[in-house]
Amino acid sequence: MFKMKPEKILNGVIGLAFLALALFQVRCAPKPAVQVTPRKPLIFAVHVLVESTDEARGFIGEIPAMAKSGVNLIVYEIDYNYEFVSHPELRREDPVTKDMVKEMVRLCRQYKIRLVPEFQSLGHQSWAEKTWPLLVKYPQFDETPGKYQGNKDGDKEFYCRSWCPLHPDLYPIIFSLYDELLDVFEADAIHVGMDEVFLIGDKDCPRCAGKDPAELFAHSVNTIHDHLVKEKGVEMFIWADRFLDGEAMGYGEWEASMNKTYPAIDMVPKDIIMCDWHYERKYENMKGTGFPSVPFFLDKGFRVLPASFRDTKAVKMFIDDSFKVLSERMLGHMCTSWGGVEPGKIAKCKQFKTIAKELRRYGLLAAK
Ligand SMILES: [Zn+2]
Repeated sequence: MFKMKPEKILNGVIGLAFLALALFQVRCAPKPAVQVTPRKPLIFAVHVLVESTDEARGFIGEIPAMAKSGVNLIVYEIDYNYEFVSHPELRREDPVTKDMVKEMVRLCRQYKIRLVPEFQSLGHQSWAEKTWPLLVKYPQFDETPGKYQGNKDGDKEFYCRSWCPLHPDLYPIIFSLYDELLDVFEADAIHVGMDEVFLIGDKDCPRCAGKDPAELFAHSVNTIHDHLVKEKGVEMFIWADRFLDGEAMGYGEWEASMNKTYPAIDMVPKDIIMCDWHYERKYENMKGTGFPSVPFFLDKGFRVLPASFRDTKAVKMFIDDSFKVLSERMLGHMCTSWGGVEPGKIAKCKQFKTIAKELRRYGLLAAK
């Protein structure tokens, strides 16, 4: 029978205790700060979609809490939810008032937050069965007028309507809306949206049929850029998905393009800020590639602002991956929110807290 001497048993117990202590220390040791080159200015952005005066009030109430967590840029998606004076026919049913916007401007200025209005351009001209005012009041601007009645495509899925990028009467109206937003928001930039454009170059559009989708997309971007950047002297933000090759990069048809728009990346000015959004956890399986869009945009000479949503594991993966790239043009991170804004909801949500914590961990959150 095997017997162990008492002193050997004691040595064994002491050894195990040391091993357990060592393991405990390893588990509990604070994570070392990640060493990266500081970039200035870092952006901690929040995107909000506000579709009613109640939500606007909720948003106003959130500004101090967001500022306290380090937010220094807010992209306020207003679309047709403003009491436009230049085109009152394009107001939605419960538009935000000028006084409310001025209160936002005042608070953002007080908290040193850059406030940028977003107006969804080209695509996203409807949602579900509801079409936004532009294509209701001016159906001739619809890329697919008379098609997809009730915003349905038979048994197939229908997403959102687009305006026709080649209609000659469209841009003066849109530019009036942009100008009014720049004025009331006292803004030095506009986010023009342009994500998830699926209806482009429709075969029945008398102007666009047969044309290259990339050229049509670039034409839209460049026409808007000429007005905003060259004429008005402001910056232009854009959702970046239509510039990515969905097949080559593995992102698919939502977060990237499978409808041939991506060559437009080589046809548009480099001063546009690419808001590169990725929301899915599936990319943890893309070992070795990570999020290829961040280095892609940087290599092309653009500034890039990665944007995430909801799933905190995906948020963390995207931030970790994007901060591996050492470039002054990797600007920070954007927290997107797509529901109604209620007081206390944004700054307390897990996604927002994860981003704030990650940016702080990288030691890059701008001190206020
Ligand atoms: Zn067209």
